[in-house]
Amino acid sequence: MSSDDTSRGTPPVERQRMDVDIVCVGFGPATGGFLTTLSRELANTDGTAKLESAVMPGAPPQIVCYERADDIGFGVSGVVTRARGIRGTFPDLDPSQIPLVAPVTHEKLLYLLDHIGASRRSLTLRLADKLIRGCRRMLPYDAEAVELPYIPPFLRKEGGLVLSLGQFNQWVGSQLLGAGTVQIWPGTPVAAPLVDGNRVEGVRLLDQGTDKNGAPEAAFMAGMDIHAALTVVADGPVGPIGAQIDRQFGMPAGHHQRDWAVGMKMVVDLPESCTLEPGTVWHTFGYPEPGLFGFLYVYPGRVASLGIFVPSWFDSPVRTAYRNLQHWMLHPYLWRHLNGGTLRSWGAKTLAESGQRGEPHLVGNGYARIGEGSGSTNVLTGSGVDEAWTTGVQLAEGVIELLQKKRPFTKENLEAAYVNRRRASWVEREGRVAKRARDGFHHGVVTGLVGMALAGVSQGALHLPLKPRRPRDHTPALAEYYRGRIPRDEVDRICRECAARGVSSHNALMDRAGWPAIPYDGRLLVSHQDALLMGGKVQAPAGCADHIAFLYPELCEICGTKICIEICSAQAITPGGNGVPSFDREKCIHCGACVWNCATPHPEDPERSVMELRAGTGGLHSAEN
Ligand SMILES: Cc1cc2nc3c(=O)[nH]c(=O)nc-3n(C[C@H](O)[C@H](O)[C@H](O)COP(=O)(O)OP(=O)(O)OC[C@H]3O[C@@H](n4cnc5c(N)ncnc54)[C@H](O)[C@@H]3O)c2cc1C
Ligand code: SF4
Ligand code: SF4
Repeated sequence: MSSDDTSRGTPPVERQRMDVDIVCVGFGPATGGFLTTLSRELANTDGTAKLESAVMPGAPPQIVCYERADDIGFGVSGVVTRARGIRGTFPDLDPSQIPLVAPVTHEKLLYLLDHIGASRRSLTLRLADKLIRGCRRMLPYDAEAVELPYIPPFLRKEGGLVLSLGQFNQWVGSQLLGAGTVQIWPGTPVAAPLVDGNRVEGVRLLDQGTDKNGAPEAAFMAGMDIHAALTVVADGPVGPIGAQIDRQFGMPAGHHQRDWAVGMKMVVDLPESCTLEPGTVWHTFGYPEPGLFGFLYVYPGRVASLGIFVPSWFDSPVRTAYRNLQHWMLHPYLWRHLNGGTLRSWGAKTLAESGQRGEPHLVGNGYARIGEGSGSTNVLTGSGVDEAWTTGVQLAEGVIELLQKKRPFTKENLEAAYVNRRRASWVEREGRVAKRARDGFHHGVVTGLVGMALAGVSQGALHLPLKPRRPRDHTPALAEYYRGRIPRDEVDRICRECAARGVSSHNALMDRAGWPAIPYDGRLLVSHQDALLMGGKVQAPAGCADHIAFLYPELCEICGTKICIEICSAQAITPGGNGVPSFDREKCIHCGACVWNCATPHPEDPERSVMELRAGTGGLHSAEN
């Protein structure tokens, strides 16, 4: 039996074993769709088995789901969704029954101009801005922004819902737990898949009572081995189990995960004066940097979910999502609605945005992949929740079919029962349209927008003949990025001084490059650390190994950009001794941004970086994100 866990130096220990029929890794929308669909077919209303367990004959199949976070409602997302798959599962869905859900009422696509003059704009954009300002009386121009007169159909969410992922997951989970047919265990990270030859046999849970290197301490408790006929991998965009399976079985030829984004958000109590109606959906681009996208969705009760995405193509080694989010909120078009508001909740997470190009092997002997980690997120429509949910439903339908026919969960059977369903569905069809829609962004924002429009309008028939590049291959060094704005020796001096103080350099560099200081108000505009305390309530139980690993410290020592420090969503990575960053588990929110953004390719696999996100406990404690 092999697993990465053993190769990480954990000494051989006695492990307890449990046998179930199906084990799921992670409780997000994908598993929500899977378990909701499956649970309806497990038992009759009188509690007798509709389908029979192989490990507990006479009883319904034993289904267990392990979630890393301390609650099933601690996910992070926008969300606006057309909710086709979700409504398919709940045809009588009454949005008013779920907190922080509203039907979409108004949608706007906004181009934000730079009223400060500090962003890096191409000549084309600078000319466009001049033209817009010159013709503003003839345009839908307001407060340094232009509302695009037309939202392409592929972006519209008319008829859909805005919702809080945390609240939605809790609502789904409470129904599942109420029905009593499946078990969901939050606060239980899965450390590794149990792999035997070409078959996944289940999962190993995280060891507890260890030091930060994973070595047993006095209260050591070896993670249990859970054996199952089917392992459902639904651990999201940076899931360690999906990553270990990819390393074990490889990716399909030509597939890679070069596109991703860091999404950082806040949930805000809007000021009483705010007139934005529930169901309002705004998407923005253009500011604080042209390559950053923003969103604002309004829930009932004068609460908004808002944030920005820092995408892989963003050509800046100073990639801080937090400072950029604050400048975005302060844009005049937005700030007039937000001024006087209060931070309720804050969070960040990455999105796997390679779509079908990033699709791993969807099934193998004994396992199946669903949700964002399976390449379901649609990069053209900006939609991941409903797609993830739907892939979960498709797997559940396939599993029910196999259980009814008493067929084993082999690769071939799962291909026929699950993958074929997925290939015949709207998730696949629309994923195909989106497949090359974003290639242009690696060559500039305007090129990217043109490519997206081309793919969207032509239904994927046309696309720009450009190849996606690995972000680290085109992210410039700091001195190069600031050339013409900050002299090279000053960039070096700022970085040296910040490193000596043990802090990232982005704030000092952005100040020097002309970005005004953030006027902290102690309510909505707060320091990064205050956001962690007020809005994220980050926790990390003691007694577990560090879940962020610098695999090659000697490469970190010579790394010039140290981009992992600049991007870290929670100031959990800071300059350390000998040039190797240090990691503070207490602050980490498990967003995965550092792993995607790390500037150095793995010596054995250029598609990977030299950082690894492993299974870990804790993270954000907020059910509103
Ligand atoms: C800021 C932001 C805004 C977004 N906006 C939108 C939007 O407007 N509309 C939209 O449709 N989508 C949006 N998305 C994308 C959407 O959130 C995802 O596509 C969706 O959540 C994917 O669902 P999933 O179930 O595949 O994975 P996730 O929701 O990521 O769930 C995976 C779960 O697995 C758990 N897990 C990971 N590792 C382990 C482990 N080792 N052991 C146990 N559990 C583990 C995680 O804690 C997590 O709960 C947004 C995302 C972000 C970050
Ligand atoms: S983890 Fe990556 S980005 Fe960070 S210092 Fe090491 S090599 Fe550089
Ligand atoms: S250290 Fe944690 S919080 Fe920081 S970027 Fe990495 S995963 Fe996110």
